[in-house]
Amino acid sequence: MAEKLKIGIYWAASCGGCEIGILEIGDKLLDLIEVADLVFCPCILDFKYDDVRAMPDGYIDVCLFNGGIRNSENQEIAELLREKSKVMVAYGSCASEGGIPALGNLFSTDDLLKRAYTTETTDNPVGIIPGPGHSVEEGELHLPTVHDRVRRLSDVIDVDYFMPGCPPTEIQTWAVIQAVASGNLPPKGSKVGVGDKSVCDECDRERRGVKIKKFFRPHEIIAEDGWCLLEQGILCLGSATRSGCEARCIDANMPCRGCYGAAGESKDQGAAMLSAVGSMLAADSIEKAEEIVKSMVDPAGTTYRFGMAESMLVRHFPERGQG
Ligand code: SF4
Ligand code: SF4
Repeated sequence: MAEKLKIGIYWAASCGGCEIGILEIGDKLLDLIEVADLVFCPCILDFKYDDVRAMPDGYIDVCLFNGGIRNSENQEIAELLREKSKVMVAYGSCASEGGIPALGNLFSTDDLLKRAYTTETTDNPVGIIPGPGHSVEEGELHLPTVHDRVRRLSDVIDVDYFMPGCPPTEIQTWAVIQAVASGNLPPKGSKVGVGDKSVCDECDRERRGVKIKKFFRPHEIIAEDGWCLLEQGILCLGSATRSGCEARCIDANMPCRGCYGAAGESKDQGAAMLSAVGSMLAADSIEKAEEIVKSMVDPAGTTYRFGMAESMLVRHFPERGQG
């Protein structure tokens, strides 16, 4: 019997949804364990970092790395897994584009820590903010250092393939495992399981050329079946988002949130979306346009929900060394 494939799965700054995405390959899991061993996956089994350090370089055949790089631990393990893996996949939106954790890039690290540790959801009467070193009776405790911003995996190590999606679909996951198992790999740098068009191109809702009079959140309106959600005022990112998912959210009457990343040559999904929206407002004056735009709840968080770490906006914080 041929030697089994060795798979590593790691989570950095992420929510754990990518691991659920991997489980969604369903009954193919039985096929997977026939041909592959999981040699590292701290999310579901008690692996230690020292287990990885003890592996020879290139020992892991394919590493599915999810999550962005938020702190020194994320970066250290990314560098370690790069050494130990033949094929490194940026798995999911957070590893590929920064994802939701990268929305924190709109704030300073100090503000984020204060918000997390000293506001209404935290019982912290003396206002302790965790730092990298802390002395206790038993000795010195160390925590990872929080970086100034979330970076993509490819910002800190060499990445072979990208698999956007929140989480990636089971079809994408299975395709990459089969490609590694067969040795039939796509060109380095490929985005696996995505198309070269936009989600709008995969969506069968009718575009009637109707201008937007007001924005609604999905729960505030019953959208008309078969009609473009954006034209009804629901902020759908389909025009700014890469195809490949077959418009699965829209099929479930939910707007596209943009998890496959920027469509086409765009390097800034949020800017592309805001530009598209700007040409669709039912406004004949700046004042009217402002009134409509004000009805959009959390424009930055909505249009940059997944793409903040690769957006041009990071360049707007020179005080954080992001010139
Ligand atoms: S904006 Fe959304 S609903 Fe409208 S056509 Fe594009 S994907 Fe479909
Ligand atoms: S419709 Fe948009 S948010 Fe939904 S899976 Fe596709 S790309 Fe992701």
